Amino acid sequence: MRHIQRRIALLALPALVGSILVATGPAGADPTGPSAATSRSQPEDRESVRLVQIRLTGADMLDKVAAAGFDLEHGLRRVPTGIEGEAVVTAEQVTELTAMGVEVLADDAGFAWSDQADGGIGVDAAGARAVEPSNHQATVRIARADWFTTKGQGFLYVEARTTEGQQADPIVGMQVENDSGKGTPFGFARTMSRFVDSGQYMFHRNLFKLDTRPTRIQVTSSTGGVTTGVVSNWLENAPPPLTANPSYKSDFVDGYKHPQQLYSRAKEIARQYPDIAEIVYLPNQTNGYQRKAQAQLGGTGQAAVVVTSAAWGHEGGNDITVEFVDRPDANLPLAVEVTGKAVRVLLATDAAGAPASTATQVADALRTRSAGLIDRAHPYRTNEGSGIVAPTAGPVALTDFLDQKRFGAPEGEVPRGPATIPVLRIGKHRDGKKPGVLIQAQDHAREWVPATTSLESAERLVHNYRSDRETKKIVENTDIFFILSNNPDGANYSFYNFASQRKNMTNHCPDASADPAQRNSWGVDLNRNYRVGSGHDGYAGGSTNCVSGTYQGPEELSEPESKNIIWLVEKYSNIKFMMSVHSNGGQLFWQPGAYIADGRITTPRPPLGDEAFYWQSAARILSQVKAHRETVVTPENVGGSSDVLYSSAGNVREDLYYTYGIYAFGWEVGGSVYNPATGNWQGGSFQPEWTGNPELVSGHAETMEYANGIMEMFRVAADWGKDKKDPTSRLIPGDGKYRGPVDVRFETSEPATIYYTTDGSRPTLESPRYAATEFREPGQVFHVTETTTFRWFSVDSAGNIEKNYDPTKTDKRNNYRTATITIAKK
Ligand SMILES: [Zn+2]
Repeated sequence: MRHIQRRIALLALPALVGSILVATGPAGADPTGPSAATSRSQPEDRESVRLVQIRLTGADMLDKVAAAGFDLEHGLRRVPTGIEGEAVVTAEQVTELTAMGVEVLADDAGFAWSDQADGGIGVDAAGARAVEPSNHQATVRIARADWFTTKGQGFLYVEARTTEGQQADPIVGMQVENDSGKGTPFGFARTMSRFVDSGQYMFHRNLFKLDTRPTRIQVTSSTGGVTTGVVSNWLENAPPPLTANPSYKSDFVDGYKHPQQLYSRAKEIARQYPDIAEIVYLPNQTNGYQRKAQAQLGGTGQAAVVVTSAAWGHEGGNDITVEFVDRPDANLPLAVEVTGKAVRVLLATDAAGAPASTATQVADALRTRSAGLIDRAHPYRTNEGSGIVAPTAGPVALTDFLDQKRFGAPEGEVPRGPATIPVLRIGKHRDGKKPGVLIQAQDHAREWVPATTSLESAERLVHNYRSDRETKKIVENTDIFFILSNNPDGANYSFYNFASQRKNMTNHCPDASADPAQRNSWGVDLNRNYRVGSGHDGYAGGSTNCVSGTYQGPEELSEPESKNIIWLVEKYSNIKFMMSVHSNGGQLFWQPGAYIADGRITTPRPPLGDEAFYWQSAARILSQVKAHRETVVTPENVGGSSDVLYSSAGNVREDLYYTYGIYAFGWEVGGSVYNPATGNWQGGSFQPEWTGNPELVSGHAETMEYANGIMEMFRVAADWGKDKKDPTSRLIPGDGKYRGPVDVRFETSEPATIYYTTDGSRPTLESPRYAATEFREPGQVFHVTETTTFRWFSVDSAGNIEKNYDPTKTDKRNNYRTATITIAKK
């Protein structure tokens, strides 16, 4: 058994990212500078926001709307007519969205896949039935045909491609038929939906309601392509979950937890279970749940002055008062008096004794003559500040606006200032030899269920370790790192000030976006702040606009929260698995997760072995989610995140996978539950009522079902760590003499990547990799027309190499695999 580090196999990938950039230049960068933010209205009070259902035509519109500063991440999903989701907006912003072409839907008008038989694009009219399928096998391929049931209802998900899909005139349509069990005829023709993203044809796909499980499907294109395929099971026949053991303990978390509660419980667990748990402190403190104290004074428009304290509000900024004072005499100069924390601006007067200081003059005076109390003072937004400021009625107290307690926080519960994030590390052998799993929750502040889901998983580990055999195996064979909230500053803001806060609390905004009415839009999207496939490199889905919901930060890894993740995986290089837990949507992601919009150039697709391992792991994880209350994460919501949802430049998963070879998953927990009463899939929310409707939307039910999935991810990691078995592979058909051209393909005994040559050279890790025909499809088929010898080896997801072959140096045994396809001369 030879074992290579996965990071060796992946070494070529970051270089490839670089070469793509050299070749194409930084296309797709968000040209919208911070100043552009001011061109749209900003609500004075962002607490008056509400959630609306929206529909966008596609990724281009999504980028445009996000760049303009709208907050509409998560809960998004692809539908045949584009992308649907929720936006957190004011009534005024609804008008702006509509002006940008966004469709705002009535509350109950969300998309439902058609399950009606439909002649649609008219296969008969196109003459498809008259064409022999064998002539057109190549023009239509089935990527997926999955059957699943939930809450008593069967579903068929079909994903298929036509090689003519990019063709625009005429647009090639596709139709799917299914049988009704073995040996029954095809029928029930339905039109499929064409999925185009960033100008590129992706595939056709649909989810259909069916009462009987079909055995086979047939897909026909309007240009005459026909193919058939076998229907597979999706999340059916899952093994019993851990919770099936009657003595297994679960249901520990009894409500939403703010960061202080999460961290204090993590520390308590480490104290209570010192043999299997400890705390690792992340080295970079957050920038803090804190704000500078502010006020807007002197009038509106050109006369307004925005004043910001030098000190944080809780460190004295909130004690500062500023007063603009009118004086009766004529021709007085502008002056500033400072007494303690009281700043008095004595306004200049004109010949008639009327105030004569402009906003710019007052701002300059405050910045330079306030004894260091005020370090930022400027006109409002992009105004020149040419207006004459009005006196104030008296001293105006500056405030950091963090004292709202609108969610009932007891006095003193929310610590101000930077936070140190504890990592709860659980494992019997925390010596770096067991596969590490990083669970990172709540990068996005308003996502409360990911935190409770992660805490519930930690509780299950420590409470069942001594009594449950399966849990004991997990704890003894993995090294688990829980970050229960990776954005404590933003989370506190979400709990106590502004429930819809997504980003952290760092204000990188220039003066034009720094007035207090913008405060709920400041912050960096931590999941856009990483280094691979980033917005800084021209990838789509990260914004340069500091008030955008997807603001990527001034540079890669600008934020302590993202620096910490890199520190952790570098210090604990045994971390081989990662789950970035988000909400809501019911999706499970991996790579690629970002692309350059011009040409839709994604980060490199994982090798086929990794892709197969991701699918296999996803099926295990999601089967355990389903075991709780039949929630099904559907196959259309599983895969490379930029394939099934949208490009998110600079996300953490791309960095950890491409830089460190970590299997990096992303999860959108919650939402997308099938409601048999309405026949529709029901979306969730960021903070669903904790008990809510346990069959539909409930924070408690989501916590329990997704904790099942996290526990299964630990079992995946434990199995991976124990995998010392070499993969095997074969060429189909193999060695032999053939009368004419032969179609050949590789097959592996488990998820594994094949490196091969056909030029007589020995295969190495630099040799061509056996690839998918197209993404989300099985391995390619080689059309062999001349005698060819294939030399190859396979590497499984744990790094085991077939037949103990060493591809890195001359292996005298040359025990790679070989097969010769001999084509007889005619
Ligand atoms: Zn999120």
